[in-house]
Amino acid sequence: MKTLIINAVILTMNDSFDLFNKGYLAVRGENIEAVGPMEQCPDMESFDEVVDAEGGILVPGFVNTHTHIGMVPFRGLGEDMVGRLNRFLIPLEKKQMTQFLAKASAKYAIAEMQLSGITSFFDMYYFEERLAETCVEMGERAVLAETVIESTIDSYKPYGGIELAEEFIGRWKGKSSLVTPSIAPHAPYSNTEESLRKSREIADRFDVPYMIHLAEMDFEVSAIREKYDMTPVEYLDSIGFLGENLTAAHCIFINSRDAEILGKHNVKVAHCVVANTKSAKGISPVRLMQENNVCVGLGTDGPSSGNTLDMFTVMKATALAQKTFLRDRSAYTSREILKMATIDGARALGLQKIAGSLEPGKKADLTLVETKSINMYPLYDPYAALVYQAGSHNVETVYVNGNRIVENKNLLRYSVKEIKDELEKESLSFRYEALKMQNK
Ligand SMILES: [Zn+2]
Repeated sequence: MKTLIINAVILTMNDSFDLFNKGYLAVRGENIEAVGPMEQCPDMESFDEVVDAEGGILVPGFVNTHTHIGMVPFRGLGEDMVGRLNRFLIPLEKKQMTQFLAKASAKYAIAEMQLSGITSFFDMYYFEERLAETCVEMGERAVLAETVIESTIDSYKPYGGIELAEEFIGRWKGKSSLVTPSIAPHAPYSNTEESLRKSREIADRFDVPYMIHLAEMDFEVSAIREKYDMTPVEYLDSIGFLGENLTAAHCIFINSRDAEILGKHNVKVAHCVVANTKSAKGISPVRLMQENNVCVGLGTDGPSSGNTLDMFTVMKATALAQKTFLRDRSAYTSREILKMATIDGARALGLQKIAGSLEPGKKADLTLVETKSINMYPLYDPYAALVYQAGSHNVETVYVNGNRIVENKNLLRYSVKEIKDELEKESLSFRYEALKMQNK
């Protein structure tokens, strides 16, 4: 199959940030074959289909570096309440979460992400095997990490996630071009040193990315200070946990020494501004980490932490928070923000060779944002229009791995109603319990 997209404003996000105000992009099979200005557009006759972007903005598919897609049923529950994690999330998860509910939730979340132009994501949850099947069914690219924590919901054994992750990675490594299996010890405060070491060892042995929540909680910082007289980053460094395949989510409580350590080990960071600020945890010192050569991508976090699964909300909030934090209007240009949402995110997933920018030879993971809607006019700077004006409702067409997934703002292979009905059916008893808890 050969597809030609014409008349698009193309933001390639390659190393030299090549931009074509009126450009074309050619796709052959799974890959991008060529990209350039319309004057150099190849003969349209030789393509199976031609898509006229009519001045829409074509960007690399967004990369969501941190989420928990099994958690859609928790969205909107216990908002504005203190202690939500222990009061609602953990007890409900233990009592009500099943592989069937996780799968129905994953399907819903993937649909929501595809409709907003996210073509790959890094997930951390349970029942990742079911989530992997869902990604393949829906044609979405992902790194899927089975969670390691003392009491997991998909194993009866303490730290049973280690064995589950090992088996899952063994089964899925190299199985699908869309899915990279992975392992995620939950956090430094909720894992033993042994389980952290073992998780790293498994990631190394299979040569896959691994993930952790790091320097996210104030109680995490004080507990580790009390026990080891170290910061969370220093502690993970001291046990040999940090490495270039690690993506650390949040990283709010980071000092200059921590940033140096993260940079030295080439750790990647998933910055989740909406979750961090909605929970009043704090603003992450992103500039400090980047100055120490830490690659920072953007994440939505789970649907109960950030509520929306789209990068438009996250891009805008990142820019607003960082500008305010640095008290500098010129800080974080829209181009820089889009870089974090695309190629830097791809680096955090270990997918930089195949995704994150529009370059010949890379996989065709593409998002086309229309500029006809009322909020998209006028258009002076396409980067700024994406970061400050656009929303997921402007996403018109999405390709993953050369396959068209979204067309005319609709999923091609699924109906949202069908996916929603499936989730509704699976979550009846969950929602009954949730409402009981909320009304207590
Ligand atoms: Zn998280």
